[in-house]
Amino acid sequence: MEKKDYRVLLYYKYVEIDDPEVFAKEHLQKCKEMDLKGRILVAKEGINGTVSGTIESTNKYMEMMHNDPRFADLTFKVDNHDGHAFKKMHVRPRKELVTLRLDGEENIDPKELTGEFLNPKEWYEAMQRDDVVIFDTRNDYEYELGHFRGALNPDIDNFRDLPEWVRQNKHLIEGKKILMYCTGGIRCEKFTGWMIKEGFEDVAQLHGGIVTYGKDPEVQGELWDGQCYVFDERIAVPINQKEHVVVGKDYFDGKDCERYVNCANPECNKQILCSEENEHKYMRGCTHECRVSPRNLYVEEHSLSPEEVQHRLDIIAEEEKVAQNA
Ligand SMILES: [Zn+2]
Repeated sequence: MEKKDYRVLLYYKYVEIDDPEVFAKEHLQKCKEMDLKGRILVAKEGINGTVSGTIESTNKYMEMMHNDPRFADLTFKVDNHDGHAFKKMHVRPRKELVTLRLDGEENIDPKELTGEFLNPKEWYEAMQRDDVVIFDTRNDYEYELGHFRGALNPDIDNFRDLPEWVRQNKHLIEGKKILMYCTGGIRCEKFTGWMIKEGFEDVAQLHGGIVTYGKDPEVQGELWDGQCYVFDERIAVPINQKEHVVVGKDYFDGKDCERYVNCANPECNKQILCSEENEHKYMRGCTHECRVSPRNLYVEEHSLSPEEVQHRLDIIAEEEKVAQNA
C-alpha cells in the first residue's frame, strides 16, 4: 500500500444516545469489520472518537455514521496518514464524554447551553482585538507543545481541574470577551456552557477547534505557534501553514524541542519533551529515581550493563555538580 493511503478521522457530537453500553458493543463490532483502529467514547450525552483506517474503510465508516439520523450532520476532521494511528480498536461506554465530574444539577447540556461559535476567520479577527482574553482549555502538556499566540495557560493536568482554576483566577478573565479553544471543540462546547452558568457573559469558542483552524484555506492556522498535541500515535500535528515557531522546550536543557517521549520508568510514565541526544544521555528517566528504577524500559531496550548505567549516571552527576558551582 502507498504512503498516505490511510486516514485519521476525528469527530464528536453531543446527541442523546439511549443505551451507551449496547451502542458501544455493536459499534465496536462494526469498526472491527471495517478494519478500523482507534478510540471511541460513548455516553448518554453523545459520541467522541478518533479512528484510523484505509481511505476505503474510513469512507465506509463516515457513510455508515451519516446514514444514522443521530449523526447525519456529524463533522469529520480528516487527515491523511501513512498507516494506522492506533494499535487497537476500543469503543468504551462512559458517564461523560469529557470528564468534568459535574453531577446532577451542576451538569451542563451543550445542546441547551453553550458559548458563541466563531468560525476560523471570525476567531482570527477576534484574537487580534484588545478587549479579549484567549483561553486554552487543554492540559499543560498539550499547551507546552503549541498554542495560540498570547493564550492563557491554566496549567492543569486534567480537564476536571478547570472549574477550580477559573474560580481562583477570575481576575484574569473577568470583564473581557473570553475566547476558548481546544483540539477539536468538544471540551469547549461543554465548558463555555459552564462559564456562562458561572456568570461570565461574553464567552466564545473556536468552532471545530484547533484542527479545523489549521485546515481553513483562508486563515491557514495563522497565529498558532508550535504544533497541536493529538491523542494518537502521531502525537504532534502541524497547524500553522504560513510559519512554524517552535515553543516546546526540552525537559532537560530547555532548548527548542517538539519531540514527546514517555519517561522510561513505567510507574512514572510522565510525558516529557526531549531530544534524541538527551533521551540517551538521561536514559529517558525524568528524575534520578526514574533512571535507576529496576523496571527502566530504556535500559532494557538498549540492553545496558550495570556498568554502562553507572557510567551515564556519573556523567549526569558530574554535570549537575558543575552547574551548581557555576
Ligand atoms: Zn519519571
